[in-house]
Amino acid sequence: MTETLLAIETVSVAYGKVQAVRGVSLDVKAGEIVTVIGANGAGKSTLLNATIGALGAQGAIRFLGEDITRLDVEDRVARGLLLVPERRELFSTMTVEDNLVLGGFRVPRGVARDTMAEVYDRFPRLKERRDQLAGTMSGGERQMLAIGRALMSRPKLLMLDEPSLGLAPRIVADIFRIIADLRAGGVSILLVEQNARAALAAADHAHVMELGEVSVSGPAAELARDERIVQSYLGFH
Ligand code: ATP
Repeated sequence: MTETLLAIETVSVAYGKVQAVRGVSLDVKAGEIVTVIGANGAGKSTLLNATIGALGAQGAIRFLGEDITRLDVEDRVARGLLLVPERRELFSTMTVEDNLVLGGFRVPRGVARDTMAEVYDRFPRLKERRDQLAGTMSGGERQMLAIGRALMSRPKLLMLDEPSLGLAPRIVADIFRIIADLRAGGVSILLVEQNARAALAAADHAHVMELGEVSVSGPAAELARDERIVQSYLGFH
């Protein structure tokens, strides 16, 4: 049986009186890409932020079989769970390389050195720009750096919040190629996207969120053919 890495069990999150996530359950198994799609404001980012521990939640979150619901962000990250937030949150006045170094501060120095070489192999653009300030990189380059920095801590599960947001179509295609490569290299991914077409093409399993709840779940290829999903999220072409 494939190992369940992450289990989100009837998780609810409120901002004061606003119930942003209501009773959401989903699993990510080892080697899978699972995507959560849905309109603006459906609660997707809130779900990821609660899963990493930046927001309090009701319900249970298990990672590698352990209940992590009460752990703080740092303890979740130390166990191998990582979030690349929508705003990417790079250190913009530091170089590309220093951002990577900081991403690797939790792992032994030798591992960090090897991982940086792997990140540079995967993202030759980052290697070319290693001395450039992160804040002066293009949107696509910053997204690559955010993913590269996340990989520096050797996560078991990477959560990506709208990695294609604000990027030109050609760069979006690059980002989705990278996502497929990461999975091929053994990284499991929980992907939140508004670009439903690309997300469903990349993922194994998919969940649609509407008004804080999961309304439809299933194999991504099936959802991509589902008439209701096509009409609501994929357009007609
Ligand atoms: P988007 O793609 O626009 O980020 P989303 O599906 O990720 O959408 P969330 O950002 O999780 O949705 O927002 C879910 C709901 O919670 C929305 O109604 C939003 O207005 C509300 N919300 C989000 N952050 C806060 C906050 N800090 N305080 C109050 N309400 C919030």
